[in-house]
Amino acid sequence: MCARVAASEEEAMGLTIGVDVGGTKVAAGVVDEQGRLLATALRPTPSADQRETETVIVDVIRELGVDHAVDAVGIGAAGFVDERRSTVLFAPNLAWRDEPLREAIERATRLPVVVENDANAAAWAEVRFGAGRGENHVVIVTVGTGIGGGIVLDGRLLRGRYGIAAEIGHINLVPNGRRCGCGLEGCWEQYASGRALLSEAQELASVSPAVSGRLLELAGGQPEAITGQMVTEAARAGDVTALRCFDDLGIWLGRGIAQLAAILDPAVFVIAGGVSTAGDLLADPTRRAFLENLTARGHRPHAELRLAELGAEAGIVGAGDLARQP
Ligand SMILES: [Zn+2]
Repeated sequence: MCARVAASEEEAMGLTIGVDVGGTKVAAGVVDEQGRLLATALRPTPSADQRETETVIVDVIRELGVDHAVDAVGIGAAGFVDERRSTVLFAPNLAWRDEPLREAIERATRLPVVVENDANAAAWAEVRFGAGRGENHVVIVTVGTGIGGGIVLDGRLLRGRYGIAAEIGHINLVPNGRRCGCGLEGCWEQYASGRALLSEAQELASVSPAVSGRLLELAGGQPEAITGQMVTEAARAGDVTALRCFDDLGIWLGRGIAQLAAILDPAVFVIAGGVSTAGDLLADPTRRAFLENLTARGHRPHAELRLAELGAEAGIVGAGDLARQP
C-alpha cells in the first residue's frame, strides 16, 4: 500500500501530506503548492502510547495516499524537535522522549519525511499563505491556553542551534511573578493567554458582579462556569468586566511583543490562536500597548500587527509546505 502511494500514476506533482499531531487528535491533509487542502483525515491521538501514535500517523498518510500521489510528508508535533527535523526530543503531552519519528515514518511509508514543531508549522503556513504572506520577517504569536509562536527571518523559519527556538511564551515579563508550568516564574504566558483571560474574568465577576451582568448571565450566575467564548460574547455586548479582561490581556500581549520587536525587528506580528478570534477586542489594546512600550518610539519604523487568517488548519498546511522546503 505504501509503495502504491509513492508509485501512483496520478498527475499531481507537488502534492505533500501535512500531519498535525496534537495531544488529543492527529489531523492530516493533502496540501498543494498554493497551500490548499485537497483532502483531510482525522483520528484521536492514542493516549500516552508512542508506538500507537506512530501507527495512527502511518494510517492517515496511507488513507490520504490512496487518492493522491504525494511526494513527501511533513509532520508537526507538539514538542521539541531537533534541528535536523528528525527526532522529537520531548513532547509533554505525547509520551515521546528522543523519539526518531522521521526514521520510523519513512520506513513505514517509503516517503521522505520531515518533522517540525507544530507551532512552527502553523506559523510557517500563516507566513506563506495567510496574514504574513509576501513578507520575509514575521513573528507569529499564538495565543491559546498558553503562548506559542514561530519566527521567520529572511524568509526562513528560525529553528535555533537545537531546534527549539521561538518558545516565546516563556520570556520573563514579571520578576518573581506567577509560577509557570515550565519551572520558572513570571513567564509571559502566565499573563497574556487564554488561561490568564479566563482566571481574571472569573475573579472579577465574583468580586464585581454589578459590572459583570452579561458575563454572569451567560454563565448562569456562576463565575466558575465562565468560558473564554463567554468572555468574548459578553465583551461584544459591552460588558464592563469582559472588556476590561481583553484590555488587560492586550496590555500584557503588547508589552511582550514590544520586547520581541526590540530583538527581531519584524515587518509584521501576526496574532493567532483561539483567543485571536476575538478580533479587534484583542488587537486594539494590544496595538496600543505595543506602541507605548516600543523602544525609541517615534524615531523608528514599526511592525504592523495583524490577526491570523488561516485558523485551525494552519498546522496541517504548514507541515505539508515545510516538507517541500530544503
Ligand atoms: Zn514558563
